[in-house]
Amino acid sequence: MGTATFMVMGDVCTRGCRFCAVSTGNPNGWLDEEEPMKLAQTIRQASWDYVVITSVDRDDLPDGGAAHIARCIAEVKRQSPGIRIEVLIPDFRGQVAGIQTVLDAGPDVLAQNIETVERLTHTVRDRRAGYQQTLDMLQYAKQAAPKCLTKSSIMLGLGETDDEILQCMQDLRAHGVDLLTLGQYLQPNEKLLPVESYVTPEKFEYWGRIAEKELGFLYCASGPLVRSSYRAGEFFIKKILQEYSL
Ligand code: SF4
Repeated sequence: MGTATFMVMGDVCTRGCRFCAVSTGNPNGWLDEEEPMKLAQTIRQASWDYVVITSVDRDDLPDGGAAHIARCIAEVKRQSPGIRIEVLIPDFRGQVAGIQTVLDAGPDVLAQNIETVERLTHTVRDRRAGYQQTLDMLQYAKQAAPKCLTKSSIMLGLGETDDEILQCMQDLRAHGVDLLTLGQYLQPNEKLLPVESYVTPEKFEYWGRIAEKELGFLYCASGPLVRSSYRAGEFFIKKILQEYSL
């Protein structure tokens, strides 16, 4: 029982988002072909029942790493039948073939983080990422695999306005996103974007209520310390998967 998060495909990312402390570089096509097997063995031995598989972006690979992520999902499911798998995917440069490859492996939850409001996207995320591109990918996933829950995450405190936050949440719902997390941005080091504001716990609660009661998200984890992979959230997501027999 329990949950865990794993990052696959190495620790060097080909992107350079200005909020993220992961190293940027070019892995030149390197992949550990045994990673899916090793990952699945680790998970089976620990008996986790919900795992999050995330990764760096791999623009150096022709498919962005989609096939490798799919192999990880398939092998984990093979070795741990009944496990729930959430996958937080790269954007595959907007190519839906990559998402389809991942969906074909049968994740329970597919996440891609929109990270911030539309106006701040190019300030905050690597310029190869896109606000509409992320929305389109999440919409594609929902339409291609309706039983797979879709999920996204917004960081607050980067200079966004309330109107922009609401618009971003509405845009996610309009593209079929089921689950949302909202958390406070914290500057990982002095080279990355500064915090523009600290959002109060009450304001996070307010946004959580708007998300669930007015916009219709199935679940929203909203709080200063909430991150896109959030243990308490995973408990609720498991319940939703059960309730909807997904
Ligand atoms: S793509 Fe992900 S891992 Fe890479 S720099 Fe951006 S946030 Fe960090």
